[in-house]
Amino acid sequence: MSKYGRVTPETRTRLAEIVGEKNVSDAEEDLEKHGIDESLEPPYPPELVVFPASTEQVSAVMKLAHEKRIPVTPQGSRTGLSGGSLPVRGGVALSLEKMNKIIEIDEENLMAVVEPGVLIMDLHEETEKHGLLYPPDPGQDSGSLGGNISTNAGGVRGMKYGVTRDFVQGLEAVLPSGEVISLGGKLVKNSTAYSLIDLIIGSEGTLAIVTRATLRLVPKPRHTALVYVPFDSTRAAAETVSEIVRRKVVPFALEYMPRHAVETAERYLERKLPDNTHPAYLLISVEGNSEEEIEAQLETVGEVLADMEALDAYVADTQARQQHLWEARKCLFDAYKAYWEIDEVDACVPRARIPDYIEGAEATAERHGVIISNLGHAGDGNVHSIIARGDLDDETWPSILPTVIGELIDVALKMGGTISGEHGVGLTKKQYLQGQLGATQIDLMREIKKAFDPLNILNPGKVFD
Ligand SMILES: Cc1cc2nc3c(=O)[nH]c(=O)nc-3n(C[C@H](O)[C@H](O)[C@H](O)COP(=O)(O)OP(=O)(O)OC[C@H]3O[C@@H](n4cnc5c(N)ncnc54)[C@H](O)[C@@H]3O)c2cc1C
Repeated sequence: MSKYGRVTPETRTRLAEIVGEKNVSDAEEDLEKHGIDESLEPPYPPELVVFPASTEQVSAVMKLAHEKRIPVTPQGSRTGLSGGSLPVRGGVALSLEKMNKIIEIDEENLMAVVEPGVLIMDLHEETEKHGLLYPPDPGQDSGSLGGNISTNAGGVRGMKYGVTRDFVQGLEAVLPSGEVISLGGKLVKNSTAYSLIDLIIGSEGTLAIVTRATLRLVPKPRHTALVYVPFDSTRAAAETVSEIVRRKVVPFALEYMPRHAVETAERYLERKLPDNTHPAYLLISVEGNSEEEIEAQLETVGEVLADMEALDAYVADTQARQQHLWEARKCLFDAYKAYWEIDEVDACVPRARIPDYIEGAEATAERHGVIISNLGHAGDGNVHSIIARGDLDDETWPSILPTVIGELIDVALKMGGTISGEHGVGLTKKQYLQGQLGATQIDLMREIKKAFDPLNILNPGKVFD
């Protein structure tokens, strides 16, 4: 017998009293929609979807769930790629999408205060109006900040600025018991006792529900330029990345694409990129507050490219041209999905080992007859290996996929890498966790989980559960 309670008609009524009848739904289409995310996992429909509008409502929902031992799965926009938001034990899908207010842009303290359902693209738009930048920039613009914080999302600006964790200064969160805690604040420094805030960031909705966040902002650089560079090998591209760093230029983005990805983007967007005839490409983006600053960086980058025998360099200096190239990079997950059945591995390795990882991944692709397109946040060592079915038949593809994923993860771990650079463990990567962390670390994590959630009602079945 399950240790969990079911959502009975009585519980449904009490939940509707908390959030209002229009904010609970057991309509088939809502259950279906809230049972999937962007991973390739099968649907796990919840018994009920609940849409709270305030911290008080989230707290009351959790008090009731705690009393009845009902599993609750927090959800943002469900753009996650690791199945983290899927209600695998049924119960309530707690969608934070209606808590979507940008509460404050504080120009004196350079902080934003937001509710968890705010979409990253909306925060970017709002901060820009103030001449400010919230640097984390995960590839999916419609992800929510609650989801970004809970997965410690990364993105293309990781090389220069870091990841979501580096910008979260304060959190309000609801514990599985329903108690509300407030951590940090508009503080740049905070060395007071254990950092619970850092435990909650990246905990994939298993420790607490984020209901408000205080995020650090930076002044937005006024100018940017982007260079698109073909190479005749992955290794030449990767060595160029190291050389750029050695010459003390820190691009805000440095992305790697193989030719297969360039061709796939062209097919999907129905337009050509400046070149598609070489095995490997880098996108190098620099920023600064004056034209002169940009020129100086481009000059150094140009010198490196000449020294490294790059085959060409296409400079996009207008916003429109840069946008065109970024669209090509950002569309790739959707583009591959449009033409093949796919899965993905989001390993991160030390930056200098990227060529070794890519060579290992290419050997795996050849061995198993799949397409593996390695898209690198080359500046920070995070490589998204998109595994596409290619011509494999209905029996071979599902039977070899776990082996392919396992091999890619092994390649990364042997180089001192990690199984997830930014998408999280969720459901899809939990079987590989032991191999990276070992029993002692996982036991410590289990104890932490128990301290936050002794009844294991918050997002059960994830990470190591
Ligand atoms: C095309 C594409 C490109 C992508 N590119 C990137 C990228 O460059 N970098 C990157 O990091 N990710 C990327 N992602 C993955 C995804 O967008 C991120 O993981 C994002 O952070 C998920 O946000 P979400 O609101 O969709 O969260 P969801 O998918 O809804 O949830 C993700 C996890 O967070 C938990 N959660 C959500 N909200 C809360 C909350 N308020 N409190 C507690 N827990 C919560 C959920 O339980 C779940 O475990 C990409 C996805 C796609 C489809």
